Amino acid sequence: MGFLIIFTQVLNPAKAISTSITNINKGLAASVRIFEIIDSKPEIKESEDALDIGEFKKSIEFKNVNFSYGQEQVLSDINLKIKKGEIVALVGPSGGGKSTLADLIPRFYEPNSGEILIDGVGIKNYKLNSLRALMGIVTQESILFNDTIKNNISFGLDNFDDSKVIAAAKVANAHDFIMESPEGYETVIGERGTKLSGGQRQRLSIARAVLKDPDILILDEATSALDSESEKLVQEALTNLMKNRTSLVIAHRLSTIQNADKIIVVEKGEIIQTGTHEELSGQSGLYQKLLKMQSF
Ligand code: ADP
Repeated sequence: MGFLIIFTQVLNPAKAISTSITNINKGLAASVRIFEIIDSKPEIKESEDALDIGEFKKSIEFKNVNFSYGQEQVLSDINLKIKKGEIVALVGPSGGGKSTLADLIPRFYEPNSGEILIDGVGIKNYKLNSLRALMGIVTQESILFNDTIKNNISFGLDNFDDSKVIAAAKVANAHDFIMESPEGYETVIGERGTKLSGGQRQRLSIARAVLKDPDILILDEATSALDSESEKLVQEALTNLMKNRTSLVIAHRLSTIQNADKIIVVEKGEIIQTGTHEELSGQSGLYQKLLKMQSF
């Protein structure tokens, strides 16, 4: 009897010791991975005597830029000039390299050869922070945090007041849906904004860009993933955002970029046509084909 009583008393603690050993090992494996990420060195390096860019004055220029992610060449011999104040649109079949071309400007990737210049100086010579501070980037996959709407809009900024956040939300056509949310600007939007619709997420990231008030805008336009009502609202918000700025727009709907100063048609990593809407629609080529396809 004595043996049985002791045995039943010892069984549970013995099991607990063995599960805790398993948990400790799981934790150790996870911490190795976490420290690997913390210790990883950024691939994009800043030179020691890097310059502060301050203000964007004249132009962004691509000179003979080539780029590949691995073996496969994604951009070949890109030459392009975007002058201050212009709206330049990139169009072409998907997978052609439009997003990659736009990602090279904030130095998310480094060209394999060739150079990108801002105001005549290679972007490698600028401090990364000051280069990226010039730019507002709005993509379809908005980066949102599990925090309040106000904090998501003002993310990364120190000196702002609530009235500016509200003004930015109004420009971005987001104020109305925010006011309808349970706690207005204090509503928490869930991990990656899961409590919002696609169009609402995009308008929040537009509001963030409006508040940042950047000189250069890089936009990935709304696609058919949005219903036509929210697409109209997003499109209006983007038009408001582009006023008085220099913009590079990755366009999916040709109807929205007819007023662009320059349209650049990219196919298989090469620029195959450049011109205004009037010029390109009169030329036989890919732009004309895309126009015909989208007119249905
Ligand atoms: P677009 O914006 O015109 O649709 P992308 O620039 O997204 O084109 O893609 C161009 C090519 O580069 C595609 O073949 C795509 O598969 C490839 N690609 C895009 N991003 C990456 C990446 N991060 N790693 C490897 N290949 C990529």
